Amino acid sequence: MSSRTPDPHDFLDLDAGLAEEERGICAAVRAYAKDNLLDQVADWYETGSLPAAELAKGFGSLGLLGMHLEGYGCAGTSAVAYGIACRELEAVDSGLRSFVSVQGSLAMYAIHKWGSEEQRQEWLPRMATGDALGCFGLTEPDAGSDPGSMRTRAVRDGSDWVLSGTKMWITNGTVADVAVVWAQTDDGIRGFVVPTSTPGFTANEVKHKLSLRASLTAELVLDGVRLPGSAAFPEVRGLRGPLSCLNEARYGILFGVVGAARACYEAALEYTLSRSQFGKPLAGFQLTQRKLADLLVEVNRAGLVALQIGRLKDAGTLHHNHVSFGKMANVRSALSAAREARSMLGANGISLEYPVMRHMANLETVLTYEGTEEMHALSLGQAVTGLAAFR
Ligand SMILES: Cc1cc2nc3c(=O)[nH]c(=O)nc-3n(C[C@H](O)[C@H](O)[C@H](O)COP(=O)(O)OP(=O)(O)OC[C@H]3O[C@@H](n4cnc5c(N)ncnc54)[C@H](O)[C@@H]3O)c2cc1C
Repeated sequence: MSSRTPDPHDFLDLDAGLAEEERGICAAVRAYAKDNLLDQVADWYETGSLPAAELAKGFGSLGLLGMHLEGYGCAGTSAVAYGIACRELEAVDSGLRSFVSVQGSLAMYAIHKWGSEEQRQEWLPRMATGDALGCFGLTEPDAGSDPGSMRTRAVRDGSDWVLSGTKMWITNGTVADVAVVWAQTDDGIRGFVVPTSTPGFTANEVKHKLSLRASLTAELVLDGVRLPGSAAFPEVRGLRGPLSCLNEARYGILFGVVGAARACYEAALEYTLSRSQFGKPLAGFQLTQRKLADLLVEVNRAGLVALQIGRLKDAGTLHHNHVSFGKMANVRSALSAAREARSMLGANGISLEYPVMRHMANLETVLTYEGTEEMHALSLGQAVTGLAAFR
């Protein structure tokens, strides 16, 4: 037995087991966040705005955009390194991790995995540096959990494609240079690389959000958007295409939310140690210690789950059911930690002066997007019973 008391900020010593590259990325993102993000994020959240171009350049210069992809100017890091970067970004705000996830795991991954060589050469190097931003249009007003029911349609007109339809809740839609859009065709669902300057393409900001406010969300309207034949992803057909991308993004989420949970725990620990009521620090009361112990368990258990899933991904043995497990388990842990931490800060818990309620509200989005908790529960149910209960 060691006589060293565990570190309250890394209780299970998880970071000690990280490879040098992973530790380096962790330190670099933390330093960047401290210098460029932490002081500003509450204002972005309050105003529902984001300096997207500036952030893209900053994240690009850090090598975070498409960092786990190979070639085309991407860093080609391990999956764990990418996960750690997501964790450190989401410790600041889920909106910032979403920014990087959408660019790297949805838009860039889609082009990298399913695009033609020409599409890759055209977009990926610029997206890796943050000179071009991407978005990913799958969800529609009437097709969320059931994307197979999408109505957006692409039809042939000579050698061209013409796209019509509406996509909803699309992160970075208003600032994207390129949209990966999924549409019905006579040959099943296909993906299209759509420059957002194409006539007929409009992005309208989604307003009145009470969650993920430090993130830009859009409705995309495609009104007879005419594209050359080369705009379609050449091979992939059906939901396999978009679902492969969602799995990448969900992986970033299951790591990212560990950061949000940790930030809430740290805020609650610091607050209850420094504020006194009834003549002693709040942290000295048994009920508060019970809550702190619960938070500690949630944060570290979620960290372990993420790390194990990351190791499976690096070993090439990750199954999409593992990702469902991690997304469901870790978002649930983070949300529960955030709600508990919120109560521990009393009235200050509802203020943007502290990060906790911002994280709590963000995590409501994270619970819903990239497959709702219910969808992942159904995936796990199917995995262990062999029975599909989706419809
Ligand atoms: C801020 C934000 C950003 C987003 N960014 C993007 C993006 O960049 N790109 C993109 O394509 N999408 C994006 N989304 C959309 C997101 O992925 C969808 O909201 C999500 O898939 C759920 O779809 P829905 O909202 O239509 O809910 P619905 O599918 O209508 O579900 C509503 C409720 O019913 C439940 N439900 C549905 N079917 C079943 C069933 N069979 N059994 C039991 N319960 C069921 C759901 O679990 C949920 O609780 C974003 C969403 C938000 C909020």
